[in-house]
Amino acid sequence: MNKFKLAIFLLMIPGIACPGFALDEESAPVMLTPVTVTVAPEVRAMLPAFKKAADAKIEESRQYLKDNKVIDAINSLYQVLKMSPYDPRPYILIAHIYIQLEKRDLLWKLLEDVSTANTHQDYVYGKVMPEISKLTSVTKNKHTEKVSLARFKGDRKAAVSFVFDDGAKSVYTEAVPILEKYGYAATFAINPGSIPDDGHEHPILGSWAQWKDAHQRGFEIANHALHHSGIPEGPEDLLDREINTSFEMILKNVGAPPRTFVFPSDVINAYSLNKAKERHIVVRNHDYLTELYKSIFIPWYGGQYFSIATANQFVDIAKSQNLWLIPVGHAITDKDIRSFKPISADLLENHLAYIKQNEQDVWVDTFYNVYRYLAQKKAAVLSYNVVSGASIEFTLDNRPEMNVAPTLLTVVIDTAPNPAETVSAVQPGGTRPLHTRIANQKIYVDVYPSDKPVQVYWELADVQ
Ligand SMILES: [Zn+2]
Repeated sequence: MNKFKLAIFLLMIPGIACPGFALDEESAPVMLTPVTVTVAPEVRAMLPAFKKAADAKIEESRQYLKDNKVIDAINSLYQVLKMSPYDPRPYILIAHIYIQLEKRDLLWKLLEDVSTANTHQDYVYGKVMPEISKLTSVTKNKHTEKVSLARFKGDRKAAVSFVFDDGAKSVYTEAVPILEKYGYAATFAINPGSIPDDGHEHPILGSWAQWKDAHQRGFEIANHALHHSGIPEGPEDLLDREINTSFEMILKNVGAPPRTFVFPSDVINAYSLNKAKERHIVVRNHDYLTELYKSIFIPWYGGQYFSIATANQFVDIAKSQNLWLIPVGHAITDKDIRSFKPISADLLENHLAYIKQNEQDVWVDTFYNVYRYLAQKKAAVLSYNVVSGASIEFTLDNRPEMNVAPTLLTVVIDTAPNPAETVSAVQPGGTRPLHTRIANQKIYVDVYPSDKPVQVYWELADVQ
């Protein structure tokens, strides 16, 4: 069999702006399976001017794949997208290549591109997601240690943080009640410069009173720049206004500082990133976030080619791939199709109902709260002593560089092969009893990092 050894630098491929990766013999698949895709009927009509050239390029990529020239194949497919960004085929073919190479991060980024492109998203996702579900979940929490820190709060398989951009009033009037019905918090990234400062309610962008109310009900208000301006290229005073004046307006009108900054249209560079981080704790940007957690997927929901089936499949792959899924929404409406990628109240309602069915496996919280968990988990140092067969003492210490407010982390104690029947956890000097839970031959203890040791005692259930 013709093994191949390649160094792939995707920076050289037009259309991909991401760090390169290297394929070595160990990770290289022996052969890529060819995939045949057709154009979705709704998209076909948009293509005639480019169809012939696109077909030729796709044929070319197929030939490259047969010769195991993966870079050339991907290159050809990106050329099709440059000619005709509506064409769903290149997305599907590139996604299949990434799936076969198990290049997960490149895959999530590509699927994010699908969500922002003007293509038939449902069609693309429908062809790709069944393949993703075949990927082994190599990132599964192994808990090889007797005591370990859970990947996500409650040791769930995935986290979901809804972020609604642009401060549409319909998010307050429509999404808030639906989210509250299911007991879920979300993040609203607003543009303070567009909200009337005289207390009036803007017909589309609402009022400060509404966003303040949302904050007081447990939703996160994030900063999406003062006027939704393209920031990175701007002069210093523009950056300062869009980032810092905006920060102060939220602080003054909502009563709490925004923790999260969301760059308009996700246009970002190193300089503006640092500027945003002067006063905000975190920025919603794929590359920035993957420094903390690898499996992140930030799809933009909505538009006419985005269905509830697709949204729910995202939840399924989030579970199987241990994703932090960050759906980006805009307005909530099924009437005004001119809104940018709106989602209907029905879609949100049905989607949340589906997530609720999966609540054992899926943690839903604001963007900042999930970030806070992951950042604190990374900074925490867990050490433990087994005191006896049914007693452990552990310390969950915090490194001093943490800049997030303390949050509860879930510590997992493996009691396999036996389930515990009763458990108690105490922390000397603590003001309240620690929350514990027993499931799957494991004990879960939620605890704030501190230098104080925690003692956990349990009784094993009688095993028949
Ligand atoms: Zn925006």
